[in-house]
Amino acid sequence: MRIDIATLFPEMIENYLNQSIIGRARAKNIFTAECHNIRDYTLDKHRRVDDTPYSERQGMLMQCEPIYRCWQAVCSMTCSQPHVIYMSPQGKTLTQKRCIELSRLDSIFILCGHYEGVDARVIEKIADEEISIGNYVLTGGELPALVLIDSIVRMLDGALASPDCYEDESHFSGLLEYPQYTRPEVWEGMKVPSVLLSGHHANIQKWRHEQSLKTTLEKRPDLLKNYSLSKKDLSIITKLSGENDSENV
Ligand code: SAM
Repeated sequence: MRIDIATLFPEMIENYLNQSIIGRARAKNIFTAECHNIRDYTLDKHRRVDDTPYSERQGMLMQCEPIYRCWQAVCSMTCSQPHVIYMSPQGKTLTQKRCIELSRLDSIFILCGHYEGVDARVIEKIADEEISIGNYVLTGGELPALVLIDSIVRMLDGALASPDCYEDESHFSGLLEYPQYTRPEVWEGMKVPSVLLSGHHANIQKWRHEQSLKTTLEKRPDLLKNYSLSKKDLSIITKLSGENDSENV
């Protein structure tokens, strides 16, 4: 996958993309990432890329032309039209499902806004979608872009040891992950559940699924609305709900 990022702060992005699992995936060419400094595309002799908004609001707004020229340069450099994503608090909230879909694309172009944001006309002209990382406002689109890139790249072939590594995690199936434990077997008087020490594969699988249901019911019951529960799941949930109710009496 090829990822192009248009930003006024390329170092913020570069630094993260060279670290840890994402950095190793980049070094192995599992994805390529090119940061483009939007300032390099301004025609202004003082290298300005922003101006005051017409709405009489305070602050500065990023202008259309440098962003548009940056996008055009990437299109001609790659001889393609990548899928354009504007990171924005006004976009649809990022989900695991959308990350999975985006991980199947060949190329994406991510636009990071800054200051008061971006002149609406260039968004209308080039953006295929706007993505938000949550209902709050950050100073710039660089962290949201990194959140998006990280969540996509870890699902690319070869980035993690195997697909199990991300498929077994929270949100992939629609449920949260079951509790996890590592050595020692007993810590501060708290024991690792005995089934996990049994070596009985089928029982461990069953325990994991039940615990996922339990964790989701306790922490994020809203997620269960979109999860297709089997008859067995429903009876587990009903039993667990009863237990929770009696605990709360
Ligand atoms: N004036 C804009 C508004 O109220 O919708 C907010 C601009 S924000 C201060 C500057 C930039 O940060 C945005 O252009 C966007 O790229 C990025 N940004 C801020 N919060 C974000 C979020 N929750 N998700 C994605 N991007 C965000």
